[in-house]
Amino acid sequence: MIYLDNNATTPVDPRVREAMLPFLGENFGNPSSSHAAGRAARAALEQARGRVSSLLRATAESVVFNSGGTESINTAIRGALAAQPRKRHLVTSAVEHSTTKNLCDQLVREGFEVTWLPVDEGGRIDLDAYRASLRPDTALVTMVWANNETGVIFPIADMARLADERQIVFHTDAVQAAGKVPVDLSTVPVHLLSISAHKFHGPKGVGALFVRAGMGLPSFLLGGAQENGHRAGTENVLGIVGLGAAAELAQAAMGSEMPRVAGLRDSFEAGLHEHFLGVRFHGDPAQRLPNTSNFALPGMNAADLLAGLDRLGVACSVGSACASGSPHASHVLRTMGIGDEEAKSSLRFSFSRMSTGEEAAAALEALGAAARRLGLGG
Ligand code: PLP
Repeated sequence: MIYLDNNATTPVDPRVREAMLPFLGENFGNPSSSHAAGRAARAALEQARGRVSSLLRATAESVVFNSGGTESINTAIRGALAAQPRKRHLVTSAVEHSTTKNLCDQLVREGFEVTWLPVDEGGRIDLDAYRASLRPDTALVTMVWANNETGVIFPIADMARLADERQIVFHTDAVQAAGKVPVDLSTVPVHLLSISAHKFHGPKGVGALFVRAGMGLPSFLLGGAQENGHRAGTENVLGIVGLGAAAELAQAAMGSEMPRVAGLRDSFEAGLHEHFLGVRFHGDPAQRLPNTSNFALPGMNAADLLAGLDRLGVACSVGSACASGSPHASHVLRTMGIGDEEAKSSLRFSFSRMSTGEEAAAALEALGAAARRLGLGG
């Protein structure tokens, strides 16, 4: 199989798997126990915390382990609101992941006011409109760092600074950004940040929430005092060890591998240009994740194309994995002013450091073959 759907999830790096294996065997201790088995588990947990904090250039104490992006985002948003009961306004974008989108819809039903900032045709946000949206009663800004469908990167440093100056809590969903582009919390003044291991060659169902020192964020689960009282429940030591190993590998590889991945993606797009005259690329080409390509092949049904590619052993996606199966065109593309017809002819290919030039070339060929079978292009 040629796997080019890495924004949905990534294969576990074999070195991550190796690091995890002892925690399915002899290293079974509970990190809260004070005997030797417990201390060994605690040491592994704290080593992983150090590795995650190093990837984020943050302090180790600010990393709270949990079950991944969805839990992090829910905890950050609900926690920030609970800590400021008198403020009832939130600012977000209209192109967030379905977790944030659905939670904000729910908050509106609960009586909160939400400002959904639009994006332009390149998926970019207008900083002046953002500045104007910040109010004295704004409790929280929540913004995706890099969009999962288009890969477009928001100017999170500038946005966080503007919120910080106004004492507004700033959360960013960095699930797609972490491990692919530098996320440096020693210079970017966010208060809360969400990451997920399975997006950078770690296991599924584990992630972390960065909580800046001094933020009194409540645990939503009542139970033990794990994770400094931020998240009750015996830690998922196996998963956390995998997250730590994945973070360390991502940090070490980023400088050399991400330019190579961008090169693969760019040559794939150049090939698309050559083979499909009407191809239309989505998202600001200069402000994108290095691994993501989202494009429309007008006149073609992306779901049919996806099925054809799947038969040829190539995995990609139509928009977001979470939105697949939905009869509606992607809300992200619609917000960018892309019509339903074009949105429904749109595919996302997302590469990773495990992708090769041969795979990119073979995927391009398979796309041509799938399109020819449908009687178009290629
Ligand atoms: N945020 C973004 C931008 C994502 O791409 C995803 C996963 O698709 C999530 C949040 C949810 O993360 P998780 O799968 O760890 O719950």
